[in-house]
Amino acid sequence: MSKHIFITGGVVSSLGKGLTSASIGMLLEGRGLKVAMQKLDPYINVDPGTMSPYQHGEVYVTDDGTETDLDLGHYERYTEAVLTKHCNYTTGKIYNSVIEKERKGDYLGATVQVIPHITDEIKAAIDSLCSDDVDVILTEIGGTVGDIESLPFLEAIRQYRLDKGQENVMYIHLTLLPHLRASGELKTKPTQQSVGKLREIGIQPDVLICRTELPMTEDIVKKISLFCNVEAKAVIEEQDVAYSIYEVPVILHDQHLDEFIVKRLGLKAVEQDLKPWLKMLETVRNPKGEVEIGVVGKYIELHDAYKSVYEALSHGGHGHGYTVKFRKVAAEEVEKVGAKNVLAGVHGLLVPGGFGGRGVEGMVQAIQYARENKIPFFGICLGLQCAAIEIARNLLGLENADSTEFDPATPHPVISLLEEQKGVTHKGGTMRLGAYPCELTSGTLAHRAYGRDQISERHRHRFEFNNKYRDAFLKGGVTLSGLYKDKDLVEILEIAEHPWFLGVQFHPEFQSKPIAAHPLFSSFIGAAGNHAGLGNKKGSGTTKMLA
Ligand code: GLN
Repeated sequence: MSKHIFITGGVVSSLGKGLTSASIGMLLEGRGLKVAMQKLDPYINVDPGTMSPYQHGEVYVTDDGTETDLDLGHYERYTEAVLTKHCNYTTGKIYNSVIEKERKGDYLGATVQVIPHITDEIKAAIDSLCSDDVDVILTEIGGTVGDIESLPFLEAIRQYRLDKGQENVMYIHLTLLPHLRASGELKTKPTQQSVGKLREIGIQPDVLICRTELPMTEDIVKKISLFCNVEAKAVIEEQDVAYSIYEVPVILHDQHLDEFIVKRLGLKAVEQDLKPWLKMLETVRNPKGEVEIGVVGKYIELHDAYKSVYEALSHGGHGHGYTVKFRKVAAEEVEKVGAKNVLAGVHGLLVPGGFGGRGVEGMVQAIQYARENKIPFFGICLGLQCAAIEIARNLLGLENADSTEFDPATPHPVISLLEEQKGVTHKGGTMRLGAYPCELTSGTLAHRAYGRDQISERHRHRFEFNNKYRDAFLKGGVTLSGLYKDKDLVEILEIAEHPWFLGVQFHPEFQSKPIAAHPLFSSFIGAAGNHAGLGNKKGSGTTKMLA
């Protein structure tokens, strides 16, 4: 039978609940336990796929093609948990299925209510991850305790302990200790009040994890313990990290959090071994060098919009011993001042995914600058599409070449709508989504980087390289190095006569891990290191390949 940990957040949002949950998952895996990870989001959208990056940040995609919250990206980076559509439920998804059942007549004439029908549906969502081979399920509740919309979720997890037994369910509450600079104090009152709110609902947290700028004194721990009714050893400090978010599991382990959980839930566990993780952190702390990567995108002012891309770039650095510095450039800025003025000196350029025409001309100009100046270039999804447009216009002489997404009347639609997308009108969950196999051509940069013939990568797009232009591209010196054979779709293009120029229609950033960087990111950062004169072997990746 699986045991359960519920993670809630109090005082303010953006406390790093996802990261903390992922870190706890990783520590439990380190104790030899099999974990599953899940996020329950109180908003009414059925999934974040239809939300603007400004609202929500990146949309993370799982192998099975579910568009999910970006916290699931943390779960995959820190743990081995396999994520599916059961790992992210929203209020919208829960209500959708209750209303569907009601219409079918499943409730046999009952008045359908929040308690028990909505709460039962939430409990069923949690149950969907229970299995004989999962030891612990970690369920993070989005939002902040005290929000109206998270109430049904909190009520459901309260009931859950009653259903499954005290010994099988525990609650961890993440909170903030504000630091008042004027008096030099850490304040505990917001934490006391937030725990008070939880207790009103009937939830007594077993563990409090306190986000803080400064170390907690013993007095503060005692005070929190007393007022919040939590054992002192379960009042855990999570101080702001000095150099990497990957320090968080180590901080929690040092305070014996994994030991506490193992005992509290009566789990059979082995000793923790953080050696490989600590080794990775050591290279982050003492890098051999630094590379600077220009990232040119539409939502550049928002770090969360390209969260997995930045993480994967950093992972690429880990294996080479490089710190990766980001030069974030708004695509529209490139249009205003010219690529050279904002990109001179970068060791690599990355153009990430995106939707809509704003900034596309700037991305195209940035790619031209990287291609002509032999700066390593990595294009992801929209980034590949912009590279195709750039090559068509400037290398193949196809004037006004474009994607039909941006110019439906272009004389040269080098990127056009996927056949299967024609006639699709609904926006939710209807893109080409999730993992598809891709065959690599030997002798290409992609094949060298991956070191294998077939790969599986995740997608999220409606437009695609137009096969009518294949010959023109091949004649112009472009290699089409990855194909989805079933539908004859171009998944990767590259330019051999360039130190490192490669675009992919998929999202490799979703499969990168801090101690197993994605091979393309590792190879790209290696090439950026060469460009910076740091001198690894040409385009080689030194980190472990994905299994
Ligand atoms: N807008 C493009 C498409 O729909 C690219 C999508 C993306 O970058 N994720 O095909």
